[in-house]
Amino acid sequence: MPQKKHIPKRFQSPEYLAVLANTNAEQTAVFHQAALNDMQKIAEKGYPNEICGLLLGSINAQSWNIQQVRQVKNINTERAADRFQLDPNGYQSIDHEIRGSGVEIIGVFHSHPDCPAKPSPTDLNSAWEGFLYPIISVYDGKVASLHCWEPNEASGKFHPVTISKANT
Ligand SMILES: [Zn+2]
Repeated sequence: MPQKKHIPKRFQSPEYLAVLANTNAEQTAVFHQAALNDMQKIAEKGYPNEICGLLLGSINAQSWNIQQVRQVKNINTERAADRFQLDPNGYQSIDHEIRGSGVEIIGVFHSHPDCPAKPSPTDLNSAWEGFLYPIISVYDGKVASLHCWEPNEASGKFHPVTISKANT
């Protein structure tokens, strides 16, 4: 029987609960299987540190279509276990590399080592409207869950996004 995961108290605090909109998912994140696998592998390999990276693909009004993922160095070394900051050089070199390739940067993924796959107030502060934010919960080096979030300008909160898989 799987053990009940320890959930840090802060995830039940008013500050954390205020980050999440109490609504059903209205949008969908469509992952290519390889992108999903790569993202989970990166998260497990980086444990117990928090890893981060970029989603590459295309976007329309109802969905994000994630074709590839790329790890980007987490330059927050002081709190590498529970904070992330994308290396701007890593971001720029990927941005440069994909120019004209038909894919664009459409989101940022990161892991939550030994924590639920729910965004924190810090995550909300650094989130960009229009980007998709998958969070991968990793307990004891293994992916426990994955949830996708979208920062919503109107509500000022993260809204949940349904995860589905591409047919190809
Ligand atoms: Zn986070």
